[in-house]
Amino acid sequence: MNATLRALRGFLDVVFPPSCVHCREVVETVDGFRHLCSGCVRKLDYVTSPHCSTCGHPYYGIVEGERICPHCEGLLPTFREGRTAVLLKGPARALVHELKYHSGLQVLVDMEEIFRRAPHVLELAAGAILIPVPLHPRKYRERGYNQSELIAAHLARAAGSGARVRSLLRRTIDTDSQTHHDRRERQANLKNAFAPAERAVMNAQQHYVLVDDVFTTGSTLNSCAQALRRAGALNLDVVTFGHG
Ligand SMILES: [Zn+2]
Ligand SMILES: [Zn+2]
Repeated sequence: MNATLRALRGFLDVVFPPSCVHCREVVETVDGFRHLCSGCVRKLDYVTSPHCSTCGHPYYGIVEGERICPHCEGLLPTFREGRTAVLLKGPARALVHELKYHSGLQVLVDMEEIFRRAPHVLELAAGAILIPVPLHPRKYRERGYNQSELIAAHLARAAGSGARVRSLLRRTIDTDSQTHHDRRERQANLKNAFAPAERAVMNAQQHYVLVDDVFTTGSTLNSCAQALRRAGALNLDVVTFGHG
């Protein structure tokens, strides 16, 4: 941001102080957060070790040996490892909600701050090609942006070390509009919903990280991973902003 813009934003923040997206309190910009108040910043639940190596959800208590994670049981991952920055509740959920459903692109700077405080995520993303989970063109037109692509761009900034975003996937089936299908049919369609972008060339040695806003069942991420693997992206991990 240049000096004029910074000055303008400073001015606007004085006249219209930003309010917290979670509790609507006035935000005093401390430690980098601009859309969460200090009380809500303290409530963020960062994922730390030990955590599931597939979905990134933390394990609580004493962990010995292999453990089955209740959050991704039954998922046969076609990616190597999955990590997530925060648990998707309270203020973290409010950020995702604001971004996805209220065109709240301004909260991306707060999401970047959260990534900066999630070293296990930064470590995985550093130097990698970040591939956002794509939206179907219909959905993209409706929303005007792909939140995963924007999150990936902010993750790349936080991770540095040459991390960069490449939209190497496309969504060929509009699974969201198939509400008339039952769950099983939709799951089956999801399997084939993604394909490499035109002219995308994958390299088996290159490290790729698939990026999405949220890890829920993992089935969307797994379908994306499958399409990428088939195209030759064998060195593939997953990062999500939140798990919920
Ligand atoms: Zn708050
Ligand atoms: Zn898991």
